[in-house]
Amino acid sequence: MQRKPPYSDDPFAIPADTLGLSADEMRRLGHKVVDMVVDRFERRNAEPVITTGDADTLAQKLGGALPKEPMSPDASLDLMAEVALTHMQHGDHPRYFARVPGPASFAAILGDWMGTGFNTICASWGGGSGPAIIENTVISWVAEMLGLPGHTEGVLLSGGSLANFTGFSVARSEIGRGVAYLTDQTHASLPRNLRQMGLSDEDIRILPSDGDLRMCPETLSMAIKADITQGRRPMMTVATAGTTNTGAADPMQAIADICDRHGMWLHVDGAYGAPAAITDAGRNVLKGLERADSIVLDPHKWFFQPYDLGMCFVTRPGALDRCFSMNPEYLKDVQSENAVNYGNRSLELTRRSRALKLWMSLRTYGAPAFIEAVQNGMDLAEEAERQLRADPDTWKVMTPAQLGIICFALKGADAAEHSKRADRLSQSGFATVSTTTLQGRSALRLCTINPLTTREDISRTLALLAEPLTEK
Ligand SMILES: *Cc1c(COP(=O)(O)O)cnc(C)c1O
Repeated sequence: MQRKPPYSDDPFAIPADTLGLSADEMRRLGHKVVDMVVDRFERRNAEPVITTGDADTLAQKLGGALPKEPMSPDASLDLMAEVALTHMQHGDHPRYFARVPGPASFAAILGDWMGTGFNTICASWGGGSGPAIIENTVISWVAEMLGLPGHTEGVLLSGGSLANFTGFSVARSEIGRGVAYLTDQTHASLPRNLRQMGLSDEDIRILPSDGDLRMCPETLSMAIKADITQGRRPMMTVATAGTTNTGAADPMQAIADICDRHGMWLHVDGAYGAPAAITDAGRNVLKGLERADSIVLDPHKWFFQPYDLGMCFVTRPGALDRCFSMNPEYLKDVQSENAVNYGNRSLELTRRSRALKLWMSLRTYGAPAFIEAVQNGMDLAEEAERQLRADPDTWKVMTPAQLGIICFALKGADAAEHSKRADRLSQSGFATVSTTTLQGRSALRLCTINPLTTREDISRTLALLAEPLTEK
């Protein structure tokens, strides 16, 4: 392929691209990428839900010697699409029911592409005032949809893990060091977060959940009192608004009362389930969410955004900036005292604008489309529950449909049997589900948050799971 030398004295010889692609090539390749993406949207129902490759075969096809000569971008795009991007889970497939699906919407993808294409930065006010206002805007739009107080602030991060870390950091900076209270249903990344923040195992209290796999306010209250008696300081309670395991929501009103009584921070991990609060039914289940000091929501799960995007909301004005502000001499030119500097709201300084995709999708589809799609996810889990209960000889419902998740067991099956059937289903390419353990008992689990999933998708998936295993 012929390229002009990128560094030439002749201004007319300078190509449009930093490293030498011409404007015509850029257009042609860009259009090809759009077609490849939309082609996959059109045929994804018919493609396998998940494919895992063999490491050696993949490395042979995708690796190789460091390129010493330019190679064809067309061939590289084709290779990427055919080999790398087929060997992964397709979380946006309508029969991807495992873990947490990622049903990204196209308007959000366009927003992300624009952000990358314009190389957006949202760190200082001076260096990214437009993107900063977009970030402010999506934070207040989503806060409004969730029913959070009007003065809620926030910051966008890569996902729930870093968003929870950010909330915990603010809690510690506002309250001081002390004990954090979780349950055995809290997401595994949270104790990891707390340990890496420097909390010792002594200061991480993992409480047993109740029979419904929720935090029990009496257990929390007793643990707090026992710690106070022993001279420890309770710092924060971490409630979950929709556990990843079962969709169960901790009783946030009662927990908020306890936190108020002891001057503690209430952090709510709604990475998975907080979007339910935009519906009437979900708002009722998640009552008390608005009383939290910090709240996490992952738009790359149930808010129709491509990876990656997590949000951390803080309802105490100024607390995020008090925790993360820095004002070094080399940033004086671009920081503003009157406007938000997002580089002062988390550990990320140089950061792309993750808000563009959310802004683009909320404007394109409108809030009611989000509400309807989230409600649909909850309805589908209820539909799955109805289908399971209609065949009590085959199935036992382990936990009811909660915020788009249902857990169930095949009558008489143990963990090995469940995982063999789940594997067989994934290998068929038709659908994929998770296995999990609930208080020592094995279960299968569906997460039904993709608006493109049909009732038929659910009944065919259950039928395939119910088919007896044949010995090979
Ligand atoms: C997914 C999840 C997390 C972790 O979020 P990532 O985006 O994977 O970093 C934390 N908590 C809950 C409840 C989750 O579902």
